[in-house]
Amino acid sequence: MAGVARAAPIALLHLGEPGDVEYFDVLIVGAGLSGIGSAYHLQTKCQAKTYTILDGRSAIGGTWDLFRYPGVRSDSDMHTLGYPFRPWRDRKAIADGSSIRKYIAETAQEYGINGKIRFGHQVTLASWSPRDAAWTVDATGPEGKTVQFACNFLCMCSGYYDHAEGYTPDWPGIDRYQGRIVHPQSWPEDLDYEGKRIVVIGSGATAVTLVPPLAKAAAQVTMLQRSPSYIVALPSDDVAADWIRRALPAGFALGVIRWKNVLLGMYFYNLSRRRPDRVKQQILRRVREQLGPDYDVEKHFTPRYNPWDQRLCVAPDADFFVAIRSGKASVVTDEIETFTERGLQLKSGDELQADIIVTATGLKLKCLGGMKITLDGTPIHLAGRASYKGLMLRGVPNLSFTLGYSNASWTLKCNLVAEYVCRLLNHMSAHSYNSATPVGREPVMLDKPAFNLNSGYIRRGIEFLPKDGSSRPWKIHQNYLLDMLDLRFSAVDDGTIEFTRLPNGRLSAISATKLPSDDASWNGTVAEGAP
Ligand SMILES: Cc1cc2nc3c(=O)[nH]c(=O)nc-3n(C[C@H](O)[C@H](O)[C@H](O)COP(=O)(O)OP(=O)(O)OC[C@H]3O[C@@H](n4cnc5c(N)ncnc54)[C@H](O)[C@@H]3O)c2cc1C
Repeated sequence: MAGVARAAPIALLHLGEPGDVEYFDVLIVGAGLSGIGSAYHLQTKCQAKTYTILDGRSAIGGTWDLFRYPGVRSDSDMHTLGYPFRPWRDRKAIADGSSIRKYIAETAQEYGINGKIRFGHQVTLASWSPRDAAWTVDATGPEGKTVQFACNFLCMCSGYYDHAEGYTPDWPGIDRYQGRIVHPQSWPEDLDYEGKRIVVIGSGATAVTLVPPLAKAAAQVTMLQRSPSYIVALPSDDVAADWIRRALPAGFALGVIRWKNVLLGMYFYNLSRRRPDRVKQQILRRVREQLGPDYDVEKHFTPRYNPWDQRLCVAPDADFFVAIRSGKASVVTDEIETFTERGLQLKSGDELQADIIVTATGLKLKCLGGMKITLDGTPIHLAGRASYKGLMLRGVPNLSFTLGYSNASWTLKCNLVAEYVCRLLNHMSAHSYNSATPVGREPVMLDKPAFNLNSGYIRRGIEFLPKDGSSRPWKIHQNYLLDMLDLRFSAVDDGTIEFTRLPNGRLSAISATKLPSDDASWNGTVAEGAP
């Protein structure tokens, strides 16, 4: 099990004012789904490593603690969104936000990860010192003071969007509006919407999730969209999973259910890419079955893009269509001319009156939690930088980041990333390496970001994302089976990673008593491995 953290004198890290810096072998940033999963793998597979988790929030769960709007839920099945080492046992495959939050918290509790989390620590800067083979990490602590940590390896499990605020377009006349404007990312606990007229602006997963529960209590809910998304009705109970559970022993059944869902998801995604017209027609036929022949499906439910160019929206048990059929919810496809005192003036000339306007207009992309990075004092920029196997950055030592799939459950990739990082750390320990930097030959970069979706938030934030490369190991697969080959089974020392060793042969960059850079015999790092 992990040992005790050590205090290192900051002056020895060449970082300015003397003061205490707590050292851990590994720092994980983020206590969400991926941070807790990474911690589990680390303490299970690299038992000698000390680690801690820093999170800017005051509670566990990341996304599932932050988002509190009515009806918030997963749109992936929990058998693949949950952890493989702690399978989801609930019958409901599509789970509500509080159940997912509870699941993450219980996982942390069960594996003793709770005590490793430092809440209220927002990481702002990571500075790599090659002489120490260590990162110094600055965080804004609970009292607004800067707190410093040092580590040999930094795992960024900080998600992909700005937790502080969501995206709201700059609409004309918005200040004139007399009603209440709410963004789903910061849903007010006290918002009373019973009997109110509500307009939800947006057509993505959040809008599709919000409309049914709002419609139950509100007088009327209108979903106003500029253009439609694909909406697929799915049962929230997985009937095949129930059957498998009855037929097979418990432990085995959960693995079979997980693989069934992985393979079905991959099949449907690949079919959508190869036969987009066929999949499109199938989705639209099912919408027509839900809404009847007189509904204008062409106008309100036929997107301008192909299935899986953007993530599909799921309507569990067809709840979205049920809300429309009830007459309490409706869809308007139009554009906002201006906000007015009472609602929205649309470009068509129509007016929508509303007591509450919900801006389900998406997220603001934020890479590596907005943290700045310097390498030996020089700032580096992420934009356009190649990513190694979708988890490290070219030229950046001892830093991994965890971004899940855009076309499958997030956790599938997170789990592979965590496993790979453990293999890398164990390889480094076994050979007394202090740093690992993806270098290799100059990759050919594609004009494509790390996420292969053309959703609004990706287009808006493209400048912050690493780029996709044309071939291994710079290619981001978005494919679980290919990633399994690359991350679980391929050799760690693949000729692309440059490993270096400090001359004193220590496994850790900084020891309790003496820092490597304090060693008079030190005269630079020893490169091994790649060109
Ligand atoms: C409403 C919603 C629903 C979703 N549903 C699904 C779904 O059904 N299926 C799916 O596959 N994906 C879904 N996603 C994607 C989702 O983000 C992932 O499923 C997953 O929860 C992300 O986990 P994470 O731990 O990687 O990141 P997050 O949940 O974003 O957690 C990151 C954590 O890092 C912390 N952090 C960030 N930056 C810093 C910093 N600089 N310093 C300190 N702490 C920091 C944050 O406070 C946060 O606690 C959904 C996303 C949203 C917003």
